[in-house]
Amino acid sequence: MPLSHLGFSLVGIRAVELRRIALPLVRPFVTAHGTERERDVVLVRVDVDGVEGWGECAALAAPTYTSEWTAGAWAVLREHLVPRLLAGADLDEVAGHRMAKAALRNAVLDARLRAEDRSLAAHLGATRTAVPAGIALGLDATPDDVGAAAAQGYRRVKLKVVPGQEGALVLAREAHPALRLQADANGAYAGNAVALDALDDLGLDCIEQPLGAADLVGHAALTARLRTPVALDESIASTATLDAALRLAACRAVNLKQGRVGGLDEAVRIHDACVGEISLFCGGMLETGIGRAVNIALAALPGFDLVGDLSPSARWYEEDLTEPHLLVDGTLAVPDGPGIGRTPIEGVLRRRTVATALVGPG
Ligand code: MG
Repeated sequence: MPLSHLGFSLVGIRAVELRRIALPLVRPFVTAHGTERERDVVLVRVDVDGVEGWGECAALAAPTYTSEWTAGAWAVLREHLVPRLLAGADLDEVAGHRMAKAALRNAVLDARLRAEDRSLAAHLGATRTAVPAGIALGLDATPDDVGAAAAQGYRRVKLKVVPGQEGALVLAREAHPALRLQADANGAYAGNAVALDALDDLGLDCIEQPLGAADLVGHAALTARLRTPVALDESIASTATLDAALRLAACRAVNLKQGRVGGLDEAVRIHDACVGEISLFCGGMLETGIGRAVNIALAALPGFDLVGDLSPSARWYEEDLTEPHLLVDGTLAVPDGPGIGRTPIEGVLRRRTVATALVGPG
């Protein structure tokens, strides 16, 4: 989409800075696709008539969970997307790379909103001033971890699950009968869907992405068979895939990640298409305070009826790049400052930056 469609003049964009950041996690995050030990992430800073804006790329370090990855995002931003932005061209001339596009679009939107002294939440049409916090625990989670999350006030606990490890969810349900619980399979039940029956009487909010991303027909069969709602995460790349999923009745909920769908405009279209049809929750990608601010603002829209993967900064980082997002009574405050409401702390940003590239007009 041309940036002019964002209602934003291209004239004032002077330069775009890319920063690659390495931020240690307080604890490794173990999933079916690997173990994250630090957040290796690309930030985008734009300067628009002297007003800066920030965006964070959701891509992880390796292309194992999604096809995008940090070094690839850096390259496509530097060589293809930023030059197009500066030339006023359509970012969608580049195929795919939605997370990289989202980072760039969000940075421009942040600058525009800061210039207008408006918050992202207000711009998106948020109806909440705080959102319920949920936690996603990795495959190494223990019963004590579930108990600790409940004691900290998280409104929902999501456990990663793979075939043969359903026992952790059974134990969690036995220990916490009233806790909102959810399973995320990250596609691990492809070819083994019958094993999901072990989860179907636990009263889970949903079972997320049991099968592969492209298998909408398989998810439709599961949706018809299981009492527990099936949620789609990796499958939903755009409004077009959401439309296919709705027509096939392939899910009863969507995990919406704005980076995965190419940015906030597409995310809001998906939100709007889900309202009145299926449930919705907001996912996360181990964001720093920059990307987390965006997720929280998005999750403040009225269509999000399930608790998302929205945790405070301390869930992942001892020292966040920004003023931290805090857990208060099981909720996170929606930032209400101009733009995304968060800015990197200069000293932390400098210490955690491992590479910088400035891309100016060609
Ligand atoms: Mg997921």
